Amino acid sequence: MAIESYLDQEPSCLIVGSGIAGLMAAREMKRQGIQVLVLDKARGVGGRMATRRFDGAVFDHGTQYFAPSSAWFQSRIAEWIDESVAREWFRVQAYEMDTRFLSSARYCGCPAMTSIPKVIAAGMPVYTGEKVTQLEIQGECWHAFTEQGSHFSARSCILTPPVPQTLELLDASRIALEPAMEEALSDLVYEPCITLMVVCDGPPSAPENGVLEFERGNLRRIMDNQRKGISPDVPALTIHATGAFSASHFGDSDEIVANLLLDEALPMMRCGAESWQVHRWRYSQVLAPHPAPYLQVHQHPPLAVAGDAFGVNGVEGAARSGMEAANMILRLLH
Ligand SMILES: Cc1cc2nc3c(=O)[nH]c(=O)nc-3n(C[C@H](O)[C@H](O)[C@H](O)COP(=O)(O)OP(=O)(O)OC[C@H]3O[C@@H](n4cnc5c(N)ncnc54)[C@H](O)[C@@H]3O)c2cc1C
Repeated sequence: MAIESYLDQEPSCLIVGSGIAGLMAAREMKRQGIQVLVLDKARGVGGRMATRRFDGAVFDHGTQYFAPSSAWFQSRIAEWIDESVAREWFRVQAYEMDTRFLSSARYCGCPAMTSIPKVIAAGMPVYTGEKVTQLEIQGECWHAFTEQGSHFSARSCILTPPVPQTLELLDASRIALEPAMEEALSDLVYEPCITLMVVCDGPPSAPENGVLEFERGNLRRIMDNQRKGISPDVPALTIHATGAFSASHFGDSDEIVANLLLDEALPMMRCGAESWQVHRWRYSQVLAPHPAPYLQVHQHPPLAVAGDAFGVNGVEGAARSGMEAANMILRLLH
């Protein structure tokens, strides 16, 4: 059913994308008393912080874990732990320490990764199943039109899809970018990631924390969701292929990619597959983010582009980018 929702009368913001960037932007706006509307084309919230269930098993099939590289993100993680939607998953050994991070702890969602976006979105006007295909300025407002026939508007707008999808939307809306900005955004490269989720016929042979990382071959990581604690009843593996494998097999059938990945993974895991599903992430992670935390595309009414392609990689970068874009818009609206 088509929806119409207008926040034209007061300072307000329309946020495209309910991944962590969009939700952190919405949370910041709401905290400062600004009305928000969040739109997402997917059925649920969270974007790449994703969890799937089938045949009694539970899989985190996008982001696996996160770690803080700033005191700001460390505080966000502490809040999520207080709200019982995140927990420490494991600690890396001293020889594996990545100097970007403040500690050796790696955190995950609790009971699963989507718990974090779900708790942030709670009580927020989030419209899922609404793919924005057109943006227009009318008077003092941004108007968003969706493939589903709905129409939303507000006094400002933040776009948080992966940058190639944002560029497509801007292009379809005939919103021109400054040439230097357009070039910088077009140059951002995302790695694809084919993900195979496997229900196993018995407990796989995985390390205690459930994580195996590879430097050679077609597999990047295997995660045992039962050892991770998110699939307590059924043994379940998430297998991430490398960027190179994912790029060259992106268009192959599910059977082809599943058989190739299972042939490589199962002998190591010493178990069989009872059932499986494939998910293709066309934009999994950006290789080298843009150094700015967000970009302002339009002044009046304000429009910003944010997400994990800005600042630092991953969940932390996306969350920070959303929050900083929201603060910039707040300054303009006031
Ligand atoms: C396989 C995989 C493994 C990863 N592992 C890690 C990890 O271990 N640690 C880590 O920190 N990060 C990891 N990441 C990256 C991390 O998930 C992302 O950096 C972060 O979640 C991005 O958040 P975001 O809000 O910027 O984008 P997204 O989560 O992609 O959110 C964007 C949202 O916009 C919506 N959208 C797009 N176009 C439209 C439209 N036209 N209309 C409406 N809605 C639209 C999408 O449906 C989506 O929900 C991983 C990602 C993948 C895919």
